[in-house]
Amino acid sequence: MRYTSEKMTAIQAVRNAAKLCKQVQSDFVRPSTLTKKDKSPVTIADFCSQAIVCQHLKETFPDACIVGEENADSLRKPENAKLLQQISSYICQFHPEATPEQVCDWIDMGADTVVKHYWTLDPIDGTKGFLRREQYAIALALVESGQVKIGVLACPNLPVDIDNPNGEKGLLFVAVRGHGVEILYLNEDKAKLIPIKPSTNQITLRLVESVETAHGDHTRQEKIARKVGIKLPSLRIDSQAKYAVVARGDATLYLRLPSPKTPDYHEKIWDHAAGTIITEEMGGQVSDMQGLPLDFASDHEMRYNRGVVVSNGGIHLAVIESLKDV
Ligand code: AMP
Ligand code: MG
Repeated sequence: MRYTSEKMTAIQAVRNAAKLCKQVQSDFVRPSTLTKKDKSPVTIADFCSQAIVCQHLKETFPDACIVGEENADSLRKPENAKLLQQISSYICQFHPEATPEQVCDWIDMGADTVVKHYWTLDPIDGTKGFLRREQYAIALALVESGQVKIGVLACPNLPVDIDNPNGEKGLLFVAVRGHGVEILYLNEDKAKLIPIKPSTNQITLRLVESVETAHGDHTRQEKIARKVGIKLPSLRIDSQAKYAVVARGDATLYLRLPSPKTPDYHEKIWDHAAGTIITEEMGGQVSDMQGLPLDFASDHEMRYNRGVVVSNGGIHLAVIESLKDV
């Protein structure tokens, strides 16, 4: 199969990153954070994850371009030396010789811009969910000529069975274009497949949306859901775990409509690339509010798209039509 080496490398990189994220979560009640220019938080785990994934990808594919969410600018400032030291000590588990400078360089390997072929990485998607100890994801995708070819999504806190939230947690979703999706246990080194559930029927039609009200338009999303026949209360979870939940049939529709609080916000490629291929390879559909494909070819900001609609396929057109009225 084409992409076998890319797929295996991506899986290992994301598993290693997830391991560090989980350690940070168990070592700290609330890990230290920095506040980015856009006021969003970034934790030591975000930096650990980006460093470990970029180092691993570049070791196997030295020419790879990586468009990641984070960079090491703030960590290079003297006032953040203690944070950088903490990050470096986590990284040392995998690379005992790593110096703080090297760790910054590895993080900055993810500072490339969009080119014809690139990887995109969200080292922790849903940082707010991570801080609340709810859902978050490590999302890595390979994009070629605007089409996502591989998506690897680790969801460390996602229950194996959504109806048993206190049961086993931690899943890894792996999609390769044209080859479907594998769902693996995240915490087992050996690939152990989980059978994919049959797609949901009418009775279990369900909407999934962000927890954060600033990341969508919950009022409008609910109206659209009612219009297309969804009666159950919506599932609110952070991160691209929402794509996974649609892909495996626990929800029928994921709506991310522009929030009235931030009407000019442009969605970012790393928040959607891995999730998109996972949903599509399970037979679902992904578009913006007008039904246009998401633009992974132009820039890290999807400035030609407005909102995101993710569905199991069957109701997609009805949703796009409803958006014209509501
Ligand atoms: P979620 O966990 O699905 O609510 O989304 C988390 C992601 O939302 C973060 O990775 C941010 O990149 C992104 N984000 C930040 N601000 C906004 C906004 N105003 N509208 C939509 N998404 C946003
Ligand atoms: Mg994100």
